Amino acid sequence: MTKRTKIIAIANQKGGVGKTTTVVNLAAALARKSRTVLVVDLDPQANATGGLGLEKEDGVSIYPVLLGNAEIADVIQPTAYDNLNIIPSEVDLAGAEIEIARREDHLSVIREALAPVRESGVLDYILLDCPPSLGIVMTSSLAAADGVLVPMQAEFLAMEGLGLITNLLEQLRAGANPDLELNGILLTMVNMVATQTKDVIAMVKEKFGDRVYDTTIPRNVRTSEAPSYGQPVIHYDPTCKGAVAYRAFAKEFIARTPTRFTETPSVTQEVSEVKSQENEISEVKLSSEAEISSSATEPETPTQEPVTSHDQVS
Ligand code: ADP
Ligand code: MG
Repeated sequence: MTKRTKIIAIANQKGGVGKTTTVVNLAAALARKSRTVLVVDLDPQANATGGLGLEKEDGVSIYPVLLGNAEIADVIQPTAYDNLNIIPSEVDLAGAEIEIARREDHLSVIREALAPVRESGVLDYILLDCPPSLGIVMTSSLAAADGVLVPMQAEFLAMEGLGLITNLLEQLRAGANPDLELNGILLTMVNMVATQTKDVIAMVKEKFGDRVYDTTIPRNVRTSEAPSYGQPVIHYDPTCKGAVAYRAFAKEFIARTPTRFTETPSVTQEVSEVKSQENEISEVKLSSEAEISSSATEPETPTQEPVTSHDQVS
């Protein structure tokens, strides 16, 4: 059973491919399945911050933490959703590229900034919403991550871009982060009616095999509307196609990216424990129920508190 929090960088140097939409909705869907999640908005555009209903605020971002001027616990903000926290972005983050580049340890700055939260063990997932460039913030995000999740559109041109990011991944594996995995490729804004869609999906699958998620995210108007209401689409319109797809994706993501939560003993194991340890019945029953319902019916009632206080994090 691992205690480690999984850090996943959501990256693609191309803008407008669905990175932020994926971060916001994957985070919300994971939180709804009782996983504790921290989103880190690393894009000065602050779309993940807005998409989760927060306003930009001076000094409240990863930036002062990277500079050593703030503690990470001070910049973690709760959202309106249980289990879902965010380190927002701010305009200053645009300066981070230059500032970090000057430092000798530039590849490890994000890893080090996140270390206290990761080591606290209270989180299941940290999702890094990367800016759309192959710059230093994206590179040090990948250096900090266990896995990289690449959203891409089902277009022939997008295949070239995929090469750039997999090259970067190889470089990091050869140096700063030998354990970095390609968590997966998620096809976004899929329009099955377009003639190239199926061909592109087949090509990506041929090249990347099981690294391509079975779930694809359809192009969906409600999904594009949700950010202007500061809500993940899974809350804005839970039954629309985009919401259904992101929930299915979260389920597939959890199976592929286990944490201490998903690695709790199986239900059958727990049931046999109940027989031998009558006095612990209520506790064991609770956790096995949570496990059953989170995989089958997706509970609305989360079991963990947002990570906001100093004590929990540091
Ligand atoms: P990125 O973070 O890669 O720049 P975004 O997630 O911000 O991309 O998405 C770019 C634009 O496309 C946004 O306006 C977003 O609302 C829209 N969008 C993203 N996913 C979908 C989807 N599945 N259906 C329709 N519009 C989408
Ligand atoms: Mg974005």
